[in-house]
Amino acid sequence: DLDQPIIDDVEQEVEEWAKKQQQQIDQYERFAEYRRRYVGDISHELKTPIFNIQGYLHTLLEGGYHDEKISMSFLKKAAKNVERLQTIVEDLSAISRLESGELILDTEPFDIKALATEVFEELEMKSKEAKIELGYKSGADTGFMVMADRESIRQVLVNLVTNSLKYGDVGGSTRIGFYDMESYILCEVADNGIGIPEKHLPHVFDRFYRVDKSRSRQKGGSGLGLAIVKHIMEAHQQTINVRSSPGLGSTFGITLAKA
Ligand code: ADP
Repeated sequence: DLDQPIIDDVEQEVEEWAKKQQQQIDQYERFAEYRRRYVGDISHELKTPIFNIQGYLHTLLEGGYHDEKISMSFLKKAAKNVERLQTIVEDLSAISRLESGELILDTEPFDIKALATEVFEELEMKSKEAKIELGYKSGADTGFMVMADRESIRQVLVNLVTNSLKYGDVGGSTRIGFYDMESYILCEVADNGIGIPEKHLPHVFDRFYRVDKSRSRQKGGSGLGLAIVKHIMEAHQQTINVRSSPGLGSTFGITLAKA
């Protein structure tokens, strides 16, 4: 259109360009904020065990080492905190591998019940210590063939069953069940432990989120177990869900592709 001044088009172009720039800045700022929080969270998590270790060593060096009983007890406590640091660092590197997409899924068909049995065997000692029985839900006589990265799904089951032992009560039990849902297989890990209040449920998969900080720490939790589980399920383009009633228990369900 020859009558139309060209300036209108230019103005619109400039406006659109400015809008795009702003969107990019916003996105960058969101990312920068995410990174700041991430680094802040991590250093906060590392501080507690480091301060503890410092405290125990300081007391020993100040003369506590003369007393054999104190020495033994403080060294044990220091060692426990070193273990915690190790768990946090290992879990963080697992998360960073998952977030960077470095984990390449080695998908293969396998029997989910056979894997659950292996996980139960691996955690037998812990279950005995916690005095919580591991077993299958009624009806879970046969497993199902699923298509997934077996090693990652083992990690998922290990984390879920370990949690059921950490947040269960003496004399309690953990049950795994399998269900054929037509288009996928549902695998559930159910416990009759302390449960999770409803308002916390949407957050339990966030990194470092804990309902009860002291219980998690006392049980050696890094606060990253469920974040790792969620990442692994997302990498599989599958889902994880949780239902829970405080005092009655929790059930975590993962979906798996049929083989
Ligand atoms: P943590 O290392 O603290 O166990 P997770 O990421 O594995 O970290 O779990 C996050 C939080 O969710 C836990 O601190 C706990 O409060 C809650 N939680 C997880 N699993 C269970 C469970 N089976 N029963 C009750 N609470 C649970």
